[in-house]
Amino acid sequence: MAERLIVVGGDAAGMSAAAQARRRRGVDDLEIVVFERGHFTSYSACGIPYWISGLVTDREQLVARSPKVHREDYAIDVRIRHEVVEIDLVRREVVARDLDGGGEVREPFDTLMYAAGAVPKKPAWAHTDAAGVFGVQTLDDGSALRGWLETEPRPRRAVVVGGGYIGVEMAEALVRRGLSVTLVERDEQPMSTVDPDMARLVTEAMRGLGVDIRTGVRVTGLAERDGRVSEVVTDDGPIPADLVVLGLGVRPNTELAAAAGLPLGPTGGIRVDRQMRVSGVPGVWAAGDCVETLHKVSGMPVHVPLGTHANKQGRVAGINIGGGYATFAGVIGTAVTKVCELEVGRTGLREREARASGFEFVSVIAESTNRAGYYPGARQMTVKLIAERPSGRLLGAQIIGWSEAAKRIDTLAVALWNKMTVDDMTALDLGYAPPYAPVWDPVLVAARKAVDALAG
Ligand SMILES: Cc1cc2nc3c(=O)[nH]c(=O)nc-3n(C[C@H](O)[C@H](O)[C@H](O)COP(=O)(O)OP(=O)(O)OC[C@H]3O[C@@H](n4cnc5c(N)ncnc54)[C@H](O)[C@@H]3O)c2cc1C
Repeated sequence: MAERLIVVGGDAAGMSAAAQARRRRGVDDLEIVVFERGHFTSYSACGIPYWISGLVTDREQLVARSPKVHREDYAIDVRIRHEVVEIDLVRREVVARDLDGGGEVREPFDTLMYAAGAVPKKPAWAHTDAAGVFGVQTLDDGSALRGWLETEPRPRRAVVVGGGYIGVEMAEALVRRGLSVTLVERDEQPMSTVDPDMARLVTEAMRGLGVDIRTGVRVTGLAERDGRVSEVVTDDGPIPADLVVLGLGVRPNTELAAAAGLPLGPTGGIRVDRQMRVSGVPGVWAAGDCVETLHKVSGMPVHVPLGTHANKQGRVAGINIGGGYATFAGVIGTAVTKVCELEVGRTGLREREARASGFEFVSVIAESTNRAGYYPGARQMTVKLIAERPSGRLLGAQIIGWSEAAKRIDTLAVALWNKMTVDDMTALDLGYAPPYAPVWDPVLVAARKAVDALAG
């Protein structure tokens, strides 16, 4: 009889694991059942802001593989609109609720893959369930928000609460839809994934786009009229709103896992080993936004909810479930985004994190350009490097610039991953031609400046 794998969650981590396991084990050897509470599988949540803005025109473009494709091409029994409500590790069963048809099913498993993602942090304010208030986590959330933009009377004033990268991307998307947008952030700068001296450039770019940014302002509640959101209440006064996006960050979705007795780590994510096996629980695997992972620079457990990790971790789990051998090496915190044409990249530790991890370091900011200064389209690029003192090892990097900035962070990520020093980096053989870089690439300029700072 075939062994039975049950997957909880049908997006990046869950479907990567299911697909890898299927590639290695045929239907006679492994039966795969996936429960997904939403309508979609293998969708790109990362693409939601671009669908909201209208840049991506069709929701289906965000779905890499539909439930039908998984069923027909991969022989994976995908059950959408089924929410797993209980995991029984003793009887090795899950209980799933049919969200459309009603009723519950009880399904046995030999192997369990937990990939339930993250849940948006929800504040304890009144009226967060008023019409017009949205989180943006799943494609269903995106559909609901798109629907609201087309509901009469059409919303005109949007308030985005939280200036993380999702808040920033959503603010831009709503400006592009013609709404007047206010972004409220309790810190002094949005985009806390980079240091405040770099985030300042993001604030300026967003103001240039027409976003009313209120920093250092704390939201204390929402108000509603006739069931529709009408105001965001802050310690700096009320802000009228007929659409509110809550972008307050996410936490690992682990309630079900914790109730079943799966171990959680200090970040609240599920504890897994490098093969993505849940620590100390035979036959149970987990991956994606619901787990914690190792930061390779700080050596600390971290929760970094990004699609890039969810896909890799799901793949690793699936290879192992399929009988192969793969490991996930950990993360260094590389991430990129953009605000209109301003690109933002970061990797490694910010100053605050480097300090908290006990490193002594220097940090430098180097101004340069993306192309040779005389070449059309040359624009400013700002690179920040954080290097350990006295070794010179690169600990962190941030880049902000108008074009060709974001993916330059990958050069720095590779250097950091391989424990290069800023001195080593000054000799890197990077490509140069006037349309692509000045003769001294911004990365090399910053590395030289860091070497000087270490010597000083
Ligand atoms: C707006 C937005 C933009 C983003 N942009 C980027 C980006 O540019 N780059 C990047 O790397 N990452 C980005 N991310 C993050 C990325 O989308 C996530 O890290 C990734 O989707 C995590 O994959 P996952 O499979 O772990 O979880 P999810 O994608 O959240 O999937 C979990 C699935 O489990 C389902 N589920 C949960 N509980 C149950 C249950 N009890 N029963 C059945 N099903 C359940 C959910 O419906 C969901 O479909 C973005 C996220 C958002 C929301």
